[in-house]
Amino acid sequence: MNGAYIPTIGLEIHCELKTASKIFCGCPNVFGAPPNTQCCPVCLGFPGTLPVLNRRAVEYTVRMGLAIGAEIPAFSKWDRKNYFYPDLPKAWQTSQYDLPLVKGGRVAFMTPDGEKTVRIERIHLEEDAGKLIHENGFTRVDYNRGGVPLMEIVTLPDLHGAAEAVAFLTELKSIIKYIGVSDVKMQEGSLRCDVNLSLSRPGEPLGTRTETKNLNSFSAAARAIEFEIGRQTEILAGGGSVLQETRRWDDAKGRGYALRSKEDAQDYRYFPEPDLPPVVLDRAEVEAWRRALPVLRYERAGRYTREFGLSGYDAGLLTGDRAVSDLFDGTVALGANPKKTANLIMGDVLRLGREEGGEDVAVGLSPAQLYGLLSLIEGGVIGLAAVQKDVLPRIWNTDIDPETFVKEAGLAQSGDADEIAAAVREIIAQNPRQADDYRAGNEKLLAFFVGRVMKATKGKCNPKTVNEVLTTELKKR
Ligand SMILES: [Zn+2]
Repeated sequence: MNGAYIPTIGLEIHCELKTASKIFCGCPNVFGAPPNTQCCPVCLGFPGTLPVLNRRAVEYTVRMGLAIGAEIPAFSKWDRKNYFYPDLPKAWQTSQYDLPLVKGGRVAFMTPDGEKTVRIERIHLEEDAGKLIHENGFTRVDYNRGGVPLMEIVTLPDLHGAAEAVAFLTELKSIIKYIGVSDVKMQEGSLRCDVNLSLSRPGEPLGTRTETKNLNSFSAAARAIEFEIGRQTEILAGGGSVLQETRRWDDAKGRGYALRSKEDAQDYRYFPEPDLPPVVLDRAEVEAWRRALPVLRYERAGRYTREFGLSGYDAGLLTGDRAVSDLFDGTVALGANPKKTANLIMGDVLRLGREEGGEDVAVGLSPAQLYGLLSLIEGGVIGLAAVQKDVLPRIWNTDIDPETFVKEAGLAQSGDADEIAAAVREIIAQNPRQADDYRAGNEKLLAFFVGRVMKATKGKCNPKTVNEVLTTELKKR
């Protein structure tokens, strides 16, 4: 009976899929439209209407399953989950109960303590509900979200702390974005998660768990987990017992509240949906989806550290967004130096891309353009500072060839030895005392002369050539 309590956490992640239309009708699947303008009799649950399945929503869910190495059963079906609440006018949610589209799978991710793996129990597809808006003592309902395809990913209880849960969620979000099935915009509610948490002592069975629902940011999930660990620890340490209940998290107040005693599956009286035929998947089609999967972040980051000697931190930065990682891969494939490519991306491409993309990184540069820039720097045609200040912002989001741009804008450094020699002689003539000191052995003064020449030529000379010419000219008397 000794030792601290260990938290055990399982997550249910709800992710809205990025299909053009809703799951059972032709209404547009868009965010931010005026309330109740993206609805029809089907998604409003009018009697007598019939659902028609959006095959793309099935494809996206299966692709997610394939990305995490899950089993894709050939046969899957729909069930009604009955509950009475104004966000769902039919009084049931069309969901999947015993035969989901995806079974099993696992997600590996890095934590400061090394690699961890979370096993996935299942992924099923269902319709999202409408949204209740509580305002000035009234509650209004917006059904625009009702019928948006929602993929629910259920993990096994393999997590043991807030930081680990956030690392897992970050990896999961990256996978979803890499395969392009959702925008995963948390502030728009397209990714939400429920936290199941219990405490136990080492070697003892898991304690009673609670479920905190609808966490809509990773930081809120982390805070809710910390709070719930503290709350349950206090109860158990005081000799009490944890109640099995569903809880709500108030992120602004930083505390959770009991909502209701936890419902069991039997409370929903699941039964097979009579209005929809089962889903029978075509093996060849599933295999085609599998073959079309991109290489995911985890694998790319591993390759960047192994093959290119990048640090784990740099590899993580480069692979956070698929567009950035694709840019890196494409540029290196053209023959660019991986480390130099990585540095230019991590410094300037990420800065420009974040300014524009908000939560995501918008990449306004092609591999060919980035390769061109690196070649110009490598060849001494232009310095890094000029690339950062004068070139990158001007060719960003265009298809302008960097070499042409540099030439036309007159930004190329002069490699012309005669021109440089003339400038060098002039500067030496203007600073005879420093020249004498240099000849007397004060070699640090070379930097002084380089600076003067660069200034006189407005930074357009190749510093390496300037160095060489200066060394030669200073030796003459
Ligand atoms: Zn509709």
